[in-house]
Amino acid sequence: MTAVDDTRRAELAANLARVRARIDAARSAAARTDEVTLVAVTKTYPASDVALLADLGVADVGENKDQEAAPKAAGIGGRVRWHFVGQLQRNKAKSVSAYADVVQSVDSVRLAAALDRGAAGHGRVLDVLIQVSLDGDPARGGALPGSADPDRGLGAAAAAVAGASALRLAGLMAVAPLGAEADDAFARLAAIAADFRVDHPTATVLSAGMSDDLESAVSHGATHVRIGSALLGKRHYLG
Ligand SMILES: *Cc1c(COP(=O)(O)O)cnc(C)c1O
Repeated sequence: MTAVDDTRRAELAANLARVRARIDAARSAAARTDEVTLVAVTKTYPASDVALLADLGVADVGENKDQEAAPKAAGIGGRVRWHFVGQLQRNKAKSVSAYADVVQSVDSVRLAAALDRGAAGHGRVLDVLIQVSLDGDPARGGALPGSADPDRGLGAAAAAVAGASALRLAGLMAVAPLGAEADDAFARLAAIAADFRVDHPTATVLSAGMSDDLESAVSHGATHVRIGSALLGKRHYLG
């Protein structure tokens, strides 16, 4: 191991300890005794960081672009569970389904069908979260709760995943809308999730919370938090 690796490893270890302490404090504050899974969002950071995080005990890694995730996953492989968390074009579904263990950003019936075909072609079964829109703007991604839209409605998208043989409906994911109070958004998400579990009682994953709002997400029942900058540092380009 080089000196550079040692420095980066120490930095990641310190950040990881801080993030884990924040999660534990938030669980205690919410009197939660269940686990909260940390997904390290490594976009824009090199595969060497993923390897260091895996060494430090991180088991779940998130990426948001196929062209970046595919080579990292090829280099690191099954040491971690790969979560795809970004907007996904249908023409990338086949590629993503080769390495992703969890796709957190399914928001339409048509995308579910494309992923199902891709996963079946690779002989794999993927865990899927339906991404929920909390601002009602379809352009920003997310299925629409309470909508009867046959492609983008939350009910339709969830039914498509539940009925797909190469997909397993595992729960919901959301991103707090820009400029909105995270606490209000995640309270709304908790109500949507409670409703959703009436129809899909085994789909218990709730992925919410990022570096700036993980405490709020945990207080509203997040089972998975997706943490990038608090672990890896401030990103130097958009991703
Ligand atoms: C980048 C990203 C994150 C992590 O964001 P940070 O603020 O860096 O923690 C979480 N979720 C999604 C969907 C992302 O794209």
